[in-house]
Amino acid sequence: MSFASFGLAAPLLQAIDEAGYTTPTPIQIKAIPAVLSGKDVMAAAQTGTGKTAAFVLPLLHRLAGGPKAKANHIRALVLTPTRELAIQVEQSVVAYGRHLSLKSAVVFGGVKINPQMMQMRSGVDVLVATPGRLLDLFRQNAVRFSQLEALVLDEADRMLDMGFINDIRTILALLPPKRQNLLFSATFPDDIRTLAAGLLRNPLLIDISPRNGAAKSVKQWVYEVDKSKKPALLSSLLRNKGWQQVLVFTRTKNGADSLARKLGGDSISTSVIHGDKSQSERSRALADFKAGKVRVLVATDIAARGIDISELPQVINFDLPKVAEDYIHRIGRTGRAGSEGEGISLVSADEVQLLAAIETLIGQTLVREVVYGFIPTHSVPLTRQLKVRPKRPKKPKPTAAQGERQKTDGEQKKQGRKPHRGGK
Ligand code: AMP
Repeated sequence: MSFASFGLAAPLLQAIDEAGYTTPTPIQIKAIPAVLSGKDVMAAAQTGTGKTAAFVLPLLHRLAGGPKAKANHIRALVLTPTRELAIQVEQSVVAYGRHLSLKSAVVFGGVKINPQMMQMRSGVDVLVATPGRLLDLFRQNAVRFSQLEALVLDEADRMLDMGFINDIRTILALLPPKRQNLLFSATFPDDIRTLAAGLLRNPLLIDISPRNGAAKSVKQWVYEVDKSKKPALLSSLLRNKGWQQVLVFTRTKNGADSLARKLGGDSISTSVIHGDKSQSERSRALADFKAGKVRVLVATDIAARGIDISELPQVINFDLPKVAEDYIHRIGRTGRAGSEGEGISLVSADEVQLLAAIETLIGQTLVREVVYGFIPTHSVPLTRQLKVRPKRPKKPKPTAAQGERQKTDGEQKKQGRKPHRGGK
């Protein structure tokens, strides 16, 4: 299978060639023809599968043929949960569209709105946005939707996790009804399926992720350790295993900061990325990590969304995530593009319930190890002895695409999530 066989325009094939892609990935094989045909698509796909090109390439092909965007108008809208992901998606639009004369822009919260308003003035073919800032721009009359042809919700599950449901519903109500809708999500909890039911018309369903959602090429295991010994164990592992480019997840921002201090104190070069860091600090931390200037990047779940670092060899869960599905998002950072990766979790006795929830979700019991010198005094109970097991999340299935396009205010409130603004 080659990219040429999709019938993509020559300028796109040239850009694909320049990007060094020779064969389409599984999601691209399924999504590109579907998007080209104008169908709605609902796809289960993690970061690292090539999902961005799977929607950007056919969208650009379709947009290349149409009329230009009028002042303040947009023709395609990509909504993302975080500014990092927004920036990356727009970089892909620029890269794949470099031989076309389409205009793209990226907007997100936490920075001045005026330059973004200026950018919108001449019209934009593809706008990549976080939901809160897009609404701010709309309220200031800087963006108009009447020319919109296509909407993409990227990492839709994360957008809902971050409380964007009301913003998304507000945006949907502003868009022209005749448009193409594409929804990409790593997981399919009930709230995503409800959203999809109201959004997508007779969608093509694509599920190329392995049964448990975690990439199969990732070797996963657990180190049992007392909570207080976790920082020392991590330092020791980093020293003894020779791991070079390691992404470490903590549950809280404070946890991230204090771990980074501890690693720094042990002469292990470390950067931190979390929601309290400014955009420039986050960009620098990511750039230093990507360039190999620092060995360890400590991140919280939200801040790590959208980070694209290919072939990352190790991901470490310093704490297990509260939400089991975040484990899959975390592990999705490693073992990409066919390369082997390792997903390692430091687990203390108090985290046994979280471990059980993860094992239920991924459908496997994780191998446990202990390290000499860190044998826990509080051993982690066996998860199979736990009586109550959390429910398995549902798989995507065809959605009834009728009715439900807009919910009433009362129904929205029942969703029970607090909206919050700006891309984080
Ligand atoms: P994504 O899942 O969109 O975050 O993409 C993950 C990485 O895969 C990005 O670095 C892309 O540049 C790369 N990529 C996308 N499509 C292909 C392809 N067909 N062949 C090789 N690499 C690709």
